[in-house]
Amino acid sequence: MQWIPDDWKPKAVAVDIDGTITDYNKKLHLEAIDSLRRLEEAGIPVILATGNVRAITYGLSRFIGATGPMVCENGGVVWHPTWDEPIVRADGARARKCAQDMAKEIDIDPEGITTNAWRESEWCLFKDEDLDAVNNWVSNSEYSDLAVVKTGFAIHLMEPHLSKGEGLRVALEKMGISPDDILAVGDAPNDIPMFELVGQSVAVGGCFDSLAEVASVVSPYPHGDTFKPLVDAILS
Ligand SMILES: [Mg+2]
Repeated sequence: MQWIPDDWKPKAVAVDIDGTITDYNKKLHLEAIDSLRRLEEAGIPVILATGNVRAITYGLSRFIGATGPMVCENGGVVWHPTWDEPIVRADGARARKCAQDMAKEIDIDPEGITTNAWRESEWCLFKDEDLDAVNNWVSNSEYSDLAVVKTGFAIHLMEPHLSKGEGLRVALEKMGISPDDILAVGDAPNDIPMFELVGQSVAVGGCFDSLAEVASVVSPYPHGDTFKPLVDAILS
């Protein structure tokens, strides 16, 4: 299996969390964590690039031992603990107001997912809300400029300029690394802009079809099972 080109090695690896190093019940894949630590030990920083909020991403990054910056809330928040403050790329208040106004007219829970308590740049509805109804309401409202992005874990309401690709670009500028030298790993449509930015990309097995279409490689192994053979190939 050819995971990356023979003459290419990443200078950093950008990794999605949910559905990529976890299963769809959000349970961490321990061998994947071990593999990310092997990258760090080899001097290849791990950049967590996720829809998660900063508090959760920071905790996980610390417990993994990842040293790269963090791209949180699908690019809405970019941060490294050595920076003076996070780069918050949108005000999430309007996305929250969108959810509240929507709930007056269609049957959704505007409070959304638990981690909205710490969300800084966007707002997330439960993943099982009626996506067509949400899309239809948003596109016919004063919030029609907001992007509606579904992952396996939430429906994100976000300013349209926010994406993991744009967030990762900001992080890489701070690191002084070209996107061409980055390997990205993900599972869902919110990873597409990141895959389109970087040099090489791997979609884990069980990923969304739309991500598989833009990936350099689609893993034959589900979710976290991808990491051991992938990291073996990078370090060989
Ligand atoms: Mg994911």
